[in-house]
Amino acid sequence: MRVTVLGYQSPYPGPGGATPGYLIETDHIRLLLDCGSGVLSELGKHFPIYELDALILSHYHHDHVADVGVLQYGLMVHQLFKERDPEKPLPIYAPETPTAHAENLPYRDATRFYPVREESTVTIGDIQIGFLRTDHGDGDPCYAMRLECGGKVLVYGADSGPATNWGSFIREADLFICEGTYLDHNLPKTPNGHLSVRQAAELAQEHACRALLITHLYHGYDAAEVRRQAEAYTAGKCYVAEVGLGINL
Ligand SMILES: [Zn+2]
Ligand SMILES: [Zn+2]
Repeated sequence: MRVTVLGYQSPYPGPGGATPGYLIETDHIRLLLDCGSGVLSELGKHFPIYELDALILSHYHHDHVADVGVLQYGLMVHQLFKERDPEKPLPIYAPETPTAHAENLPYRDATRFYPVREESTVTIGDIQIGFLRTDHGDGDPCYAMRLECGGKVLVYGADSGPATNWGSFIREADLFICEGTYLDHNLPKTPNGHLSVRQAAELAQEHACRALLITHLYHGYDAAEVRRQAEAYTAGKCYVAEVGLGINL
């Protein structure tokens, strides 16, 4: 598997930036995890968007889904232009609630909706994907994803507060993509469904993750400061997200 960061910022993209979206590629398939603001523009730097095989959404907060509508328009037009098979709508795997959001995922011949639950296991090409509900938000589900392919494990933690019950989900993952929404100076006293960079590093260290990619960062953060506050993670290589960063597993 190869992962490329297409967007990592939150809650909104800084100048020239993008909110969360991660391209996952194998020899057989190309899929996208989340589709935030600016992600489609970045995706097009790698290959035409009509070559995408699937999209998985962790949850429906704007920073993770902002570009879904334009992706639907784009695929519709590529089908009209005969560049994408109209018989091949893009599958979008996403939580079944809130239904007001889920209802927007099927669009003409461009996209189809496949509901995801915590007990779901999805196989897309040569990748098997499991889901874990995280501590996030206001009662609506947010799912972390565990992707397995060729003996390697990648976990995308999505948005996940400190009360997430990880169990063995991230244990010894070859790469853990974990949010570090806050730095020490702006971490709220009461947890609100997000982690700080320091908490992300401690979590990855506790579960012996083999590499850590810290993401979901405010665009104004200094990458060197993020790296400093991740000092608790020593079990493997620590990456700080930037647009275009690629990691091979
Ligand atoms: Zn969220
Ligand atoms: Zn978010």
